Amino acid sequence: MIIAVDGPAAAGKGTIARALAKHFGYHFLDTGSLYRMVGLAALRSSGEPITARAAIAAAEALNPQKFSDAEIRNEEVGAAASIVAAIPEVRAALLELQRAFARKEPGAVLDGRDIGTVVCPDADAKLFVTASPEVRARRRQKELGSADYAAILADIRARDERDAKRTTAPLVAAADAVTLDTSGMDIAAAVAAAIRAVEAKRK
Ligand code: C5P
Repeated sequence: MIIAVDGPAAAGKGTIARALAKHFGYHFLDTGSLYRMVGLAALRSSGEPITARAAIAAAEALNPQKFSDAEIRNEEVGAAASIVAAIPEVRAALLELQRAFARKEPGAVLDGRDIGTVVCPDADAKLFVTASPEVRARRRQKELGSADYAAILADIRARDERDAKRTTAPLVAAADAVTLDTSGMDIAAAVAAAIRAVEAKRK
């Protein structure tokens, strides 16, 4: 059983995907963390602006064990991730790693941007989790404990635009995905709706 959870930054897909994995007893992979690791490694080796060469080398040599969650969870690394994610060779280098994870028994939940469209087009259940940019910026602000709402909103809009406009694997809902707009929902309501959507596909 493969569950694909895609959507823009801070829409709640990580929380929902983790909760689904726990509920069904499946493995969980946050694929954004892979792009974040590549972004950070490329920043360290080439500095800004990140060169394609540094990003591709970082993706091909990626060892997820070498990174801590703390060092990849900030807006600078998030922005670097969306820059390296637009490079086709970087995406290609990370593809097999994600597909191998998806094959784990008894099932896997993968969250990202292109899981239902490119990584696992045959996934059993696909969710596209979204929310308005303003709601996402408020959530991110709360999460970061930062006061600069305007800067966070601008960053989210820039990231959305980069993710949606890139030519390789742009952020788009798969034709057979169930869209979940979490703008007016709290976590419990969003998780319950996601479980219902997956249950409907399992039958
Ligand atoms: O989900 P997260 O914010 O951690 O992702 C960071 C960046 O990685 C995204 O903005 C996107 O550009 C990229 N990404 C991607 N494909 C995925 C997961 C993340 O392009 N499957």
